[in-house]
Amino acid sequence: MSGISIRGLNKSHGPLHVLKNIDLDVAPGDFTVLLGPSGCGKSTLLSAVAGLDPIDSGSIEIGSVDVTETDPSRRGIAMVFQSYALYPTMTVRRNLSFGLQVKGTPRAEIERRVARVAGMLQIEQLLDRKPAALSGGQRQRVAIGRALVQEARVFLFDEPLSNLDAKLRTETRVELKRLHGQLGATMLYVTHDQIEAMTLATRVAVMRGGQVEQYATPEELYERPATLFVAGFVGSPA
Ligand code: ADP
Ligand code: MG
Repeated sequence: MSGISIRGLNKSHGPLHVLKNIDLDVAPGDFTVLLGPSGCGKSTLLSAVAGLDPIDSGSIEIGSVDVTETDPSRRGIAMVFQSYALYPTMTVRRNLSFGLQVKGTPRAEIERRVARVAGMLQIEQLLDRKPAALSGGQRQRVAIGRALVQEARVFLFDEPLSNLDAKLRTETRVELKRLHGQLGATMLYVTHDQIEAMTLATRVAVMRGGQVEQYATPEELYERPATLFVAGFVGSPA
């Protein structure tokens, strides 16, 4: 299993200093949630780990390998983003297998992985449908499935449930937690929703203004918030 180690990370968008000297160590197999208000830099931090946007300074290790200069496709990560655009002309099966095919994964291996993930997400019945024939929740499962078939060591999620209604959000949350247990992978998950954070995470990094204000278990955050901001954000009685 691979942990994530971030050291002295700085990132600006134009004149805006978005990430301010971030240090964060995510233990292998952890489910870490980045929690904070809109605009505090959560997505920027996730993009930096993914390698989608160059950083200004600092370093990122995944599984004890320095990936700071490594291409996103070679970092051993899989991503699920807020806007989960599926390929509209492809069936669910093709949506799941396409990325693996492009990478040259053997056909039998692709079939094994698609069957496994479809079973995990209970979307076996949907494999021959096109996205237009799916509900929002089903589409979101397929988007998660598309990441899972990559069998990555590290999964990155950016507000993957924000387009779902309350009931589906709760259901998918339970499912993600179960999947985490089943996969034994490291998860880094962005949300601005404290309930989502407190129920999903093994550890939560509370962010404010481009910095990590506290990194602790949900219980610790609630019982011993380091700052008033953390107390206010996680709703503890401090
Ligand atoms: P969060 O995900 O916590 O809501 P973001 O990481 O998306 O926050 O954004 C942090 C700050 O950086 C915000 O002020 C946002 O407007 C700014 N920002 C993000 N991406 C860009 C970009 N591509 N160009 C310019 N500013 C950006
Ligand atoms: Mg964001």
